[in-house]
Amino acid sequence: MLENLAPQPADALLALIKLHNADPRDSKIDLGVGVYRTAQGGTPVFKAIKAAEARLLDTQISKAYLGPEGDMGFVHALIPYVFGTDFDRSTVEGMQAPGGTGAVRLAVEVAKRSGIKRLWMGTPSWPNHAQIVAAVGVELKTFAHMTADGFADLDALKAALASAEPGDAVLLHGCCHNPTGVDYTPAQWDEIAPLLVERNVLPILDLAYQGLGDGMDEDAYGLRKVLSVVPEALVAYSCDKNFGLYRDRVGAFYAVTSDATALTNAMANGATIARASWSMPPDHGAAAVRLILEDVELTAQWLAELDDMRDRMRSVRDRLAAAQQVGTINMAPLGVQNGLFSMLPLNGEQIMAIRERHGVYMAGSGRINIAGLTDGNIDQFIAALGDVAG
Ligand code: PMP
Repeated sequence: MLENLAPQPADALLALIKLHNADPRDSKIDLGVGVYRTAQGGTPVFKAIKAAEARLLDTQISKAYLGPEGDMGFVHALIPYVFGTDFDRSTVEGMQAPGGTGAVRLAVEVAKRSGIKRLWMGTPSWPNHAQIVAAVGVELKTFAHMTADGFADLDALKAALASAEPGDAVLLHGCCHNPTGVDYTPAQWDEIAPLLVERNVLPILDLAYQGLGDGMDEDAYGLRKVLSVVPEALVAYSCDKNFGLYRDRVGAFYAVTSDATALTNAMANGATIARASWSMPPDHGAAAVRLILEDVELTAQWLAELDDMRDRMRSVRDRLAAAQQVGTINMAPLGVQNGLFSMLPLNGEQIMAIRERHGVYMAGSGRINIAGLTDGNIDQFIAALGDVAG
């Protein structure tokens, strides 16, 4: 039977890591993989996480099963950070998921079980979104996320909503859009939220980078605005970037509705899906996050570390934007974009040329990881960009 299996395309970003590792040049620059890097180029464990892990080691007395919903202390401790401190707790419930990926999967599966047949999404998007939607068996409809000059294309979203049917779903990135870094502004969210109500569509809000853009509350503006007006929504959340937990797979899936029975059933369906997929989410990272959020000092330490990350990315963006015009590329939008990623308008040939001539590794889409740039390599990067985009 197994001979019937078709080969699968290699993951482009993993292939890029291999190419980067094999490049002997000391001056090579890795802008590919989507993890935060310090000014020294590392991705260290947060100090707050280390402290929480030490505490966990000392105090955890059992590793017995928790259940498909995982650590509910973790799930609930996150609620004020995501939804705001004055959010009506009776209208939200959640469960732990293996990373934001598991949370997106649960959201799309639960949407499908509730009768959703079509899902609208701006493109380009995180490539796994389309894969998950296809794997669940929901029809994907796309619209442009970004204008040619590097800003959010609100008209495209409005046109998509105008042709959406009541009962369709719309997937929106909460902040720090992957791969473009282009977020809707607060004023645009103010326009989007009532349209979601008017069109009677189910919002699925994916918040994978809270705190990496403008701040914890600022980055939740869109999500909170939408939730202040829509009757129901699903949320996929990741702690893998804002707690630096990547491989520990820490995420949460939330449903929001004032219909108590619907809320119970959303969770019951989520639990059934989890049971048949991964049974229970991995505990360690979520337990560490819970310990941080239960402790005032650790929380302050975590938020300070997150501030440092955000400040560093903002200063890299400021440096890039200050270059103004590099060859054919207008650098100004990079300064107002958010989070780990931006997309440069380079064609395939230029992306190959910057790799071969200058050792700069970026995704084939032109996506760059802002945190791959440091004081030590940013001028070299801008010069390389000028060479290939001249
Ligand atoms: N949503 C978006 C928009 C992402 O970019 C990512 C991953 N980088 C995820 C969800 C999933 O994150 P995780 O690593 O927690 O699965």
